[in-house]
Amino acid sequence: MKKIAVNTLGCKNNQIESSIIKEDFTSIGYEVVGFSDVADIYIINTCSVTEKSDKTAKYFIRQAKRANPKAKIIVTGCYAQVAAQELEQIDYVDLVLGNVEKHKMLDYLKYIEQENKVHVRDIMEHRVFDFDKFASHSGRTRSFLKIQDGCNNRCTYCIIPYARGKSRSNKPENIISEINNLTAKGFKEVVITGIHLGQWGLDFEPGQSLYNLINKIETINNLKRYRIGSLNPTEFDDELINTLANSEKLCRHLHISLQSANNDILKAMQRGYSVEMYIDLIHKLKAIMPDLAIGCDIIVGFPGETDDMFEQTYENLKQLPISYLHVFSYSRRKGTPAYDMPNQVPHKAKKQRNKILTELAAQKSMDFKQGFINKEMEILIEKSRDKSTGWLKGLTGNYITVLLDAQSDLINETVKVKIIDVSGDNLISQVV
Ligand code: SF4
Repeated sequence: MKKIAVNTLGCKNNQIESSIIKEDFTSIGYEVVGFSDVADIYIINTCSVTEKSDKTAKYFIRQAKRANPKAKIIVTGCYAQVAAQELEQIDYVDLVLGNVEKHKMLDYLKYIEQENKVHVRDIMEHRVFDFDKFASHSGRTRSFLKIQDGCNNRCTYCIIPYARGKSRSNKPENIISEINNLTAKGFKEVVITGIHLGQWGLDFEPGQSLYNLINKIETINNLKRYRIGSLNPTEFDDELINTLANSEKLCRHLHISLQSANNDILKAMQRGYSVEMYIDLIHKLKAIMPDLAIGCDIIVGFPGETDDMFEQTYENLKQLPISYLHVFSYSRRKGTPAYDMPNQVPHKAKKQRNKILTELAAQKSMDFKQGFINKEMEILIEKSRDKSTGWLKGLTGNYITVLLDAQSDLINETVKVKIIDVSGDNLISQVV
C-alpha cells in the first residue's frame, strides 16, 4: 500500500484542510503515516504569517527529502501561494499548489512527473467558496468546520489577504447539513472557523451576517454545543451579543483579536477600532455573561511602538477582564505596508515586551481558572487521557481543560463535575 505523510503548519483552517487531504488520499488507497516515517508522497501544508513560518516550511521539505530521497514532495498552503517562485527553485520539490488547488490535490497528481510543477492561480480573482469538503472528521470529540475563507481587510502587518484572497463564504444550507452530518457521527461539539469569520455572508446577494447563520445553527436539535472562532471587535452588534447571551448551545468562549491597546499603534495597524471601543465591548460582554472566557491576540514591537505606548498597552490589558492572551512579537513581512515603516523596534526590546506580556497572560489565565474552584461545571470528555496523570481530560464551554479520575465509558460524553483545585494549566475535578 502506498504511503502518504502530511505536515501542517499554521492555523485551524490549515489543520482542517490537511485532514481533508488525508481523507482524499485514504479514499484512493493510501495509508497515512507519520512525517518522520518513510512515505511515497510528503505534503507540507504551509503557513506564511511570519518569516519564521517560511523557514520552518523549508526545514520540513529538507526533512522529507532525507526521510525518503525517492519520494515525491508536494508543497501547498499560504507560503506556496505567496512565494511559489522560491519553492520552484528547490529542485527536489515536485509540485507547488496554491490555496485553491490544494482542495483538488488528487487532480494535480498527474503533473508530478511534468515540467511545470507550479499550479498557483491568482487567488484575488477567486470569488467562490467552492470546497465540497470543509470539516475535520478524524478521531476527536470536536469537529472543526471551515465556513469562510479569505479576508477583505488590510491590516498593515498581515500577509494573509494576499495568501487567502477575498472573503468567500460557504452557503448556510451546506453548513447546516454538514453540522447535522457531524452530530449524526457522534460529534458533541462543532468549532466554527474561518480566516475572517466575521466577514461570513457579506459576499452573498443580498449580504448576510454571522448573526443570521448563528440563528440557524441554534435550531439544530442534535447539536450539543458549538464554539465560534476568532472575531474582530467591530463585528459585535447588539443582535449578535443578545443571540450569544441567550444561546443554550454556544460555548461561553470568545476570541476577540485586539493586537495593541494603544490607539496610535492600532491606527498604524489599520485595525479600524479604538482601545476605548474594545474596553467597552469586553465590559459589556462580561456584564451579560460573567463566566465568559475572552481571549485576545497582542502583537508587541510593531514599528513605532515606544516604551510609553507599550506601557499603556500593558496597563490597559492589566485592567481588562480577559481570560487569556496570545502574545506575538511583530514579524517583518515582505509585501506588507508595515515592512517599510520607519522606527522598526529592536529585537531586544521586542523580546523584553513579549516576556512582560507573557507573564501577565499567565497571571490572567490563573486568576480566571481559580474563579471556578468549588463551582460545578459541564465538561466534554476528550478521547485522549492526560499524559502525566492518566486521568480523563475534558473541556469546559469556557475553554478550560479539566482533569477527572474516572472510567473511559465517559469519553465523548458531557459530564457535570465539581472543581476542587487548579494544577498547572488544568482544573482538577470530581463527578457530582
Ligand atoms: S483581519 Fe487583518 S489580521 Fe486578520 S486576516 Fe485580515 S488582514 Fe490579517
